[in-house]
Amino acid sequence: MEYIKSKIRDVQDFPSKGVLFKDLTTAFKDPRALHIIGWDLSQLYRDKGVTKVVGIESRGFIGGSILAFELGAGFVPCRKPGKLPADTIREEYAKEYGTDVIEIHRDAIGPDDIVVIHDDVLATGGTMAAAYKLVKSLNPKKIYINFIIELSALNGRAALPADAEVTSLIKY
Ligand code: AMP
Repeated sequence: MEYIKSKIRDVQDFPSKGVLFKDLTTAFKDPRALHIIGWDLSQLYRDKGVTKVVGIESRGFIGGSILAFELGAGFVPCRKPGKLPADTIREEYAKEYGTDVIEIHRDAIGPDDIVVIHDDVLATGGTMAAAYKLVKSLNPKKIYINFIIELSALNGRAALPADAEVTSLIKY
């Protein structure tokens, strides 16, 4: 874990003033850190019967794909509006300024699925809460929530459903 931490880059004032951005690209480009991230994420969900990993656009696609591959599960993208080609469902959620929308294919998940929703960073939790609602509306058997990094000071867990099982590899 210390090795992964040593490869995460802090970028001050990105994308806006006052934000300390946790940049995972420096960890993803490091072969050993990428391998450890994939392995450690998958250890959290071994033997849970996971059938699909949902990755949130766009940074959640990286860890989400690796996790799906490691678990022998399928990968499902949760995307910004207008990007998915077939029939979608959508969820609008509040951001610091204004609102945002995410979408998922209506046929991406079914009642037999056991799902992990993955994003790179838990900040305020708004994005993940919206993704959870989308996935929940497709009635899978079980939904887990996972992040590589959790920014504890922002208390994003409070925005997530109380009964959701949330894991993160690294807490700051
Ligand atoms: P949230 O506030 O939890 O809805 O975060 C929205 C998205 O912004 C997440 O998917 C993260 O990828 C990203 N994000 C927010 N804050 C940070 C941060 N300080 N460092 C890196 N990524 C962040």
